Amino acid sequence: MSKSNKTKKNRRKDTPRGADLRMTGGLRPSKKLGQNFLVDEEVISEIIEGSSIDESSLVIEIGPGMGALTEHLVERAGRLVAIELDDRLIPVLRVKFFGYDNFELIHGDILEVDLEELVRREKEEYSLTNVRIVGNLPYYITTPIITKLLEKGTGADSITAMMQKEVGDRLAAEPGTKNAGAITYQVHMYSEVFKVVDAPSDCFYPAPKVDSVVLRMDLRDEPAVKVSDEEFFFRCIKAGFMQRRKTLLNSLMTLGDFSKAEISEALEKAGIETTRRAESLDMNEFAILADCLKETKNR
Ligand code: SAM
Repeated sequence: MSKSNKTKKNRRKDTPRGADLRMTGGLRPSKKLGQNFLVDEEVISEIIEGSSIDESSLVIEIGPGMGALTEHLVERAGRLVAIELDDRLIPVLRVKFFGYDNFELIHGDILEVDLEELVRREKEEYSLTNVRIVGNLPYYITTPIITKLLEKGTGADSITAMMQKEVGDRLAAEPGTKNAGAITYQVHMYSEVFKVVDAPSDCFYPAPKVDSVVLRMDLRDEPAVKVSDEEFFFRCIKAGFMQRRKTLLNSLMTLGDFSKAEISEALEKAGIETTRRAESLDMNEFAILADCLKETKNR
């Protein structure tokens, strides 16, 4: 999975000395908003280097916080649009980036912003040729953010995102292996995934309880596999993983639209044994199975 595979060694386990409220100008980090601010220059520089940004890039930053990544992104990007939810950080960011005419701040919820429209407008107005989404994500909504970025055609070329290591491992797992989950198939359907860098908990203030990883997802021009109905394909995958210990013959019953005989027939047609579980199917097998199931209804 990894383009580069850097791990920091011999790190302190606690928050670095001096990383206290002085680093946030007295502002108390909000747990509820997933605020763990990046304080490690090495990791920051890996993220910036790993994002392939230049003056032809529109960069959308999710959750700029105090601006640790923003201050580097804004120097390289053609345009930087940062989206931050916390009211308290808005004046801080406005003051910090006052002098940059390529900087725009949206005070809002990333899950609510119409990214498609934002990208269309920005690209048109500023003649930018590539779109890079970057963020040290608020961990409480990592999955909805990634799903939104992949599902809705935002027109992004890449997503470089810091997330909890455990979630990153799931996203980057190969479909058809033990670590895979339903979201793995979604990520691989629409992107190629690479690890940029590991980030132990002491890279942040306050230090989270878990380690983190930065992944880069390069969006594909075409989905990895062809299926007759993408929505149904993902419904099948979700049903398969909802009860991942069960065989496909049983777990696919939760789709609700098929009898056991129909599922068994589709599995046989797809060349998949009825005793197999969702986690053992690769993208191609799930694609064939979804199409065979669909056919049983269309007869
Ligand atoms: N980028 C900064 C850094 O690396 O130091 C902050 C990262 S912190 C993990 C996540 C940031 O996302 C916080 O600034 C938080 O306020 C913001 N945030 C939380 N929920 C958000 C949402 N729904 N939409 C936009 N920003 C959000």
